[in-house]
Amino acid sequence: MANIIVIGAGMGGMACAARLASKGHSVQVLEHNETWGGKLGSVEHGGYKFDTGPSLLTLPAVYRDLFLKTGAALEDSIEIVDLETAFRYQFADGTTLKMPGTGIGRCAEAIGDSLGGKSADQWRAFMRRAAQMWSVTRKPFLESELHGLKSLLALSWRLNDIKTIAPTKTLRDMANHYLDDPRLITLVDRYATYTGSDPRQAPAALATVPYIEQMFGAYHVSGGLRELGRALFERATTIGVKFEFGCTVANIATEPKYPE
Ligand SMILES: Cc1cc2nc3c(=O)[nH]c(=O)nc-3n(C[C@H](O)[C@H](O)[C@H](O)COP(=O)(O)OP(=O)(O)OC[C@H]3O[C@@H](n4cnc5c(N)ncnc54)[C@H](O)[C@@H]3O)c2cc1C
Repeated sequence: MANIIVIGAGMGGMACAARLASKGHSVQVLEHNETWGGKLGSVEHGGYKFDTGPSLLTLPAVYRDLFLKTGAALEDSIEIVDLETAFRYQFADGTTLKMPGTGIGRCAEAIGDSLGGKSADQWRAFMRRAAQMWSVTRKPFLESELHGLKSLLALSWRLNDIKTIAPTKTLRDMANHYLDDPRLITLVDRYATYTGSDPRQAPAALATVPYIEQMFGAYHVSGGLRELGRALFERATTIGVKFEFGCTVANIATEPKYPE
């Protein structure tokens, strides 16, 4: 078994460390911050907790798999909450839209009821395109390992796949192509702006985010998403992962430092 160092105690680093430790490796995580979780921050005010980074859990199956394979079920550690309403949008003209937690059809209906016109049908068409993008990118990007040039070359897609992803198009281009209503375009824009990106520059493939939410469901975690980080930190330490906080990795030596 190997001695492995993981850099960073965000969700990615901790998930990786837990999986490796569960296989019997000796794993140490070096983290720049004084705490685990990376972007999963939280603040308390007036008796309430607020997530400062992510707040919505999507694809819980990924975490269910991680927790099962590293010891015990996810639901033994956290409570996942179904959402009747995932988001409430308030537009400048006073229109309100309550977006359901799951179901492209339900979401399209809600959009049609609030915004009227052709908005429901246009949303369905937008989601159909996002579904195609998801099916083309899911396997190579999310479920495969990339090991340098060879695995990148294996991704040289067929022309149709590249057309589907539209790598030269922005999220705003895609919204303008499918949607007429400026309020709906603003709604799509926010899938770039909520992480600080510009929809006029962010890739069209970001349309897969609302698709994933509506297709597979959007959930909350009781106590906020940092609780999911806590559960993963506890799982990792339980199975032997060692954490060192306040430790910034400055350099990764790829050549042996000492004569062999
Ligand atoms: C405002 C906002 C809202 C979001 N909302 C959602 C949401 O609702 N749902 C969702 O699923 N996703 C959301 N995301 C995305 C989600 O937060 C990230 O995808 C996820 O947290 C990334 O985890 P990570 O482990 O890859 O990276 P990070 O969380 O960034 O963790 C990286 C860690 O590595 C450490 N590190 C980096 N360099 C070094 C070094 N040299 N030495 C030591 N340590 C180092 C950092 O300190 C950090 O702790 C949101 C993101 C933002 C910013």
